Amino acid sequence: MKYELIMATNNEHKLREIRQILGDSYEVKGLKDIGCYEDIPETSETLEGNALQKARYVSERYGVDCFADDTGLEVDALDGAPGIYTARFGSMNGYGDSHDSDANIACLLDKLKDAESRRARFRTVIALIQGDEEHLFEGIVEGDILPERRGLDGFGYDPIFVPDGYDQTFAELGSEVKNGISHRARAVAKLVEFLKEG
Ligand code: IMP
Repeated sequence: MKYELIMATNNEHKLREIRQILGDSYEVKGLKDIGCYEDIPETSETLEGNALQKARYVSERYGVDCFADDTGLEVDALDGAPGIYTARFGSMNGYGDSHDSDANIACLLDKLKDAESRRARFRTVIALIQGDEEHLFEGIVEGDILPERRGLDGFGYDPIFVPDGYDQTFAELGSEVKNGISHRARAVAKLVEFLKEG
């Protein structure tokens, strides 16, 4: 019998990716599939806290096993910001709307104009709730923030992030290379390894 697991997202791209990796023994459903249309609160101060908050919300209200992810860009020169505010970094600082990638990038480049260090990392945390157990999985990719945009692929901060070991940005490397090394891919790989062992 297939083990049913809910991913606390409506992002079809994330759902497709995890279904492909997990294969036939798991049936991964999204929030719409269980009739969850609420705005799930994310009020924690950490990525771990937000991922757990989302997973617990769904698991408690819908009585299902569930996992949720949260991702942040952590920039050394900004003491780890934008972190949990990555999606709305621009709008918080007067640059365009929330979730507007152009505004987010413009804001970050301005903040780093005179910075000595351009080191940064993407960090993804996945929280899994299975019965009464909670598990956390982390994926990190280290790299540098460029002073200008390069490349057209991807989304978010991809055009200004060069991962260690490469000369090109995530937006130049393309999805195949990115998905082999990204923060999310690394966190998902740990989740999948855990689920396959179980
Ligand atoms: P989420 O937790 O997956 O929704 O990610 C939060 C925010 O981080 C997104 O809105 C993007 O701005 C940024 N982000 C997450 N993953 C990536 C990525 O792979 N490339 C570039 N930006 C990303």
